[in-house]
Amino acid sequence: MLTINWSEKSGWETPEIKPFQNLSLHPASSALHYSIELFEGMKAFRGVDNHVRLFRPMLNMERMHRSAERSCLPLFDKGELLSCINKLVEVDQEWVPYSQDASLYIRPTFIGTEPSLGVSRPGQAMLFVIVGPVGPYFTTGFFNPVSLLADPAFVRACKGGVGAYKMGGNYGPTIMVQTEAVKRGCQQVLWLYGEEEEITEVGTMNLFIYWTNEKGERELLTPPLDGIILPGVTRQSLLDLGRSWGDFKVTERTMSMKELLGALDAGRVLEVFGAGTACVVCPVGSILYKGKTYPIPTMQNGPDLTKRFHKELTDIQYGRKPSEWAPLV
Ligand code: PMP
Repeated sequence: MLTINWSEKSGWETPEIKPFQNLSLHPASSALHYSIELFEGMKAFRGVDNHVRLFRPMLNMERMHRSAERSCLPLFDKGELLSCINKLVEVDQEWVPYSQDASLYIRPTFIGTEPSLGVSRPGQAMLFVIVGPVGPYFTTGFFNPVSLLADPAFVRACKGGVGAYKMGGNYGPTIMVQTEAVKRGCQQVLWLYGEEEEITEVGTMNLFIYWTNEKGERELLTPPLDGIILPGVTRQSLLDLGRSWGDFKVTERTMSMKELLGALDAGRVLEVFGAGTACVVCPVGSILYKGKTYPIPTMQNGPDLTKRFHKELTDIQYGRKPSEWAPLV
């Protein structure tokens, strides 16, 4: 693991790579009491040429830097941290699976370690990075679509809040809602927001809708980064790819549950899918909303676009297609 300590007095200390071990923390540490904590999620992939690659890692460093700023944790040099992570992955390279279905998950974490109960900016902090090999995300297999619970009683993030930052405090409270989804026979949560019941995210994935819009145009739609959406690296990559292909319109705007159900009813929804580091893309098969299950025809439509995105991104990640998005470690 990589650890880097910081204190107001001495600034950043020398980064250390050492055997995986427990942390020793003062029981008053601010991370434990006030959730002064943030994290990132990224992966290292072993390519067909046996070289290890990351995927757009600077986007993770930039998001982590924004989360640190919002958490009152000390700022860091993004390039320096990426160099440290590269070194850690190099040291642990034998843990990067020899497989094109698996990868090494990398979890950068940043915690306030101020040993005092005052609710204030921490004067001590620790940044650490742990890694572990992971297989395919969904145990049901990739092209098994997920069922979603959409219940407006639950909200993931609010305008003016911190949903756009990857803070631990955003995630703990979702587990009870995820448990509720499973109780009602669904696999994941479709997070709704506000009076209009805007559709925002799926579990811990960004949400995409591929449809024929009111003007009869093929369009890929995802909610905009208006403060309640986590700016996903996968989200950005799908938008960039979609725009570069030019085969359909690409739009960032809100869509209400009412508009989605209307389009479904009119047969204009082609594919709905989630997007994130864990799964790349994940097709949605149905939504349970106000006691009624609405089937989504994602699988009946190929799912052509979901598959195309999956192939394009995994080709880049596993070095089957050269790209500056996948720098060598
Ligand atoms: N939304 C949320 C709430 C998430 O936690 C994640 C995972 N980081 C994502 C979307 C997807 O982001 P990424 O593509 O960077 O993994």
